[in-house]
Amino acid sequence: MKFTQPRLPYAPDALSPVISLSTVEYHYGKHEKNYIDTLNKLIEGTEYADMALEDIIVKSDGKLFNNAAQAWNHIFYFFQFSPSGLKEPGGLLRKRIDEQFGSLDEFKKKFEEAGATLFGSGWVWLSADEKGTLIISQGKDAENPMTKGLRPLMVFDVWEHAYYLDYQNRRADYLHSLWEILDWDVIEMRYS
Ligand code: MN
Repeated sequence: MKFTQPRLPYAPDALSPVISLSTVEYHYGKHEKNYIDTLNKLIEGTEYADMALEDIIVKSDGKLFNNAAQAWNHIFYFFQFSPSGLKEPGGLLRKRIDEQFGSLDEFKKKFEEAGATLFGSGWVWLSADEKGTLIISQGKDAENPMTKGLRPLMVFDVWEHAYYLDYQNRRADYLHSLWEILDWDVIEMRYS
């Protein structure tokens, strides 16, 4: 098998109660694993078999794109969390956030709003363009800003499977709680 699921850098119950053990087990352990397994089956014996995952995402469409992007998006999502991460961004990223959004709180509000108002399943992204300008965007289904030439920095999953076990229909509460476990050190590294 070409792509394998990386081990999470924290214990499966470490993000609780923001993301419960049960959600980590289903969301990462089953949903994410299934995207990777399907991706491996789809690329076998094709021109995509030896490509990097990022290249597959940019070059494919349909079922292959959906599974490749979902495989990547979930790793990007789960690896930005930590039970003991940096609680506020600093440095250049913080400067950009303050310049563009006024304050960290205003930025968080806009980001949560984008997640709360996305109709159906998808993702809310923070990306940077080639000048380092920050961009908040909604992505439907498996969408990834890489396909528009942007560099992804942070993502909140707003598929129901991401929050239903812990928050039921309260998507806004789920989005608001994620800041508690977001490790800004990871986001700063992705930006630099
Ligand atoms: Mn998901």
